[in-house]
Amino acid sequence: MRHTKVKDLLNSSSTLHEVNAKGWVRTFRNNQFIALNDGSTINNIQCVVDFENTADETLKRITTGAAVSVTGTLVESKGAGQKFEIQVSKLEILGDSDAEKFPMQPKKHSLEFLRENAHLRVRTNAFGAIMRVRSVLSFAVHSYFQEKGFVYVNTPIITGSDAEGAGEMFKVTALPFDNTPRTEDGKVDYKEDFFGKETNLTVSGQLEGETFAMALGQIYTFGPTFRAENSNTSRHLAEFWMIEPEVAFNDLNDNMDLAEDFIQYVIKYTMDKCQDDLKFLEGRLLEEEKSKPQAERSEMALLEKLNFVLENNFKRVSYTEAIDILRDSTPNKKKKFNYIIKEWGADLQSEHERYLVEKHFKCPVILFDYPANIKAFYMRLNEDGKTVRAMDILFPGIGEIVGGSQREERFDVLVEKMRALGIDEEELWWYLDTRRFGSAVHSGFGLGFERLVLFVTGMTNIRDVIPFPRTPMNAEF
Ligand code: ATP
Ligand code: MN
Repeated sequence: MRHTKVKDLLNSSSTLHEVNAKGWVRTFRNNQFIALNDGSTINNIQCVVDFENTADETLKRITTGAAVSVTGTLVESKGAGQKFEIQVSKLEILGDSDAEKFPMQPKKHSLEFLRENAHLRVRTNAFGAIMRVRSVLSFAVHSYFQEKGFVYVNTPIITGSDAEGAGEMFKVTALPFDNTPRTEDGKVDYKEDFFGKETNLTVSGQLEGETFAMALGQIYTFGPTFRAENSNTSRHLAEFWMIEPEVAFNDLNDNMDLAEDFIQYVIKYTMDKCQDDLKFLEGRLLEEEKSKPQAERSEMALLEKLNFVLENNFKRVSYTEAIDILRDSTPNKKKKFNYIIKEWGADLQSEHERYLVEKHFKCPVILFDYPANIKAFYMRLNEDGKTVRAMDILFPGIGEIVGGSQREERFDVLVEKMRALGIDEEELWWYLDTRRFGSAVHSGFGLGFERLVLFVTGMTNIRDVIPFPRTPMNAEF
């Protein structure tokens, strides 16, 4: 007999004569009630064991963590909180679990402890919920772009250009570490390496994405991205997933519209599909916040916060306006910021971004028109000659979630900028070709998928929204 998912059993429209369910025991109470979970939903199904007719030996093996198969009748539950339960007629232990040693005891564990047990933490309610939400969110990403006619492009993970400029890179090499081939002047001879040149793991698919946008019109990437920055923060991973749409003929305003519409769509999609999980995560967050001082608690519960993002436009503010606001802000005047904002041109730190979003505007903010010299070479220079058509989207609790821009489409301006920054034109010959042949206004952005998952799940550490996080000094599993 084929087993039925717990989710389908709980949603059944009627009682059923014979059903089979397979899953893992969450708890076993009074030698009679199994709370069974199979990952299809956050909800467990209660399985009532006929303990009088079950061998003691078998009952002893029904422990938290054990894999079991139960066959029986789906009946209306007399207990509170569930519509149906299974009256078990046949019980089979598929895999025992040492109750004493199983790390995922039915009690509250710290997130740190769970991180050390990332292979088992997915068996908890919270991580089951987070990973289901993550899955639905990623499908929503594809759904949005596919509905709009974007082409999904898989840009290379091993990149031959080190000029992407977005961050420190991990080298990819097949050269031996001892006895490394050297050039005459003692440098590593990459001509002897696998690709005959220096290669790295990608920090962004944008430059390759742009070449495709210049033929297919609207494209997006959604893939793994690597940054070797030693930034041990709650918002940075060494390996993360990035979504990068790139659209021909879009200017910066179109780019902002796209980003806003996209984010609202995927959040709405996920709220519709993940009601039980989000309700659970909302409760988890409320519980967690109780231990924080009043001033640090968020003003809105999770679902309210998500709805707020759906119902309100993101506030669009120029960098120059933002600097004025920050300069006049109380934490700046009282020197509460670690980096005091003195003048126009300062790079914004996450403390400033969060002040703007959480204290000043109290809604998602799109900052645009940044000083050219704190942004990447490919961003379009404004007529003022000192700002570029960049945009960063800032979210409450997260800080930067999106970084994007209108791209410099003018060959001469781009080359001049590259020269000024010492970026090798020869190496990016293929990128420059997009400006040589049929160049046009175009724009795009990068959204860090895990930061989006953070926002939607209400989690606060990025290590808790990816299955097996890679961070400095940590690549277990
Ligand atoms: P930050 O200033 O937060 O380090 P960034 O400006 O270096 O980010 P971009 O190069 O603009 O990031 O990348 C686009 C998006 O990718 C960011 O807005 C963010 O959502 C995400 N992102 C960047 N670096 C990381 C990282 N190390 N881990 C997870 N997400 C990241
Ligand atoms: Mn950025």
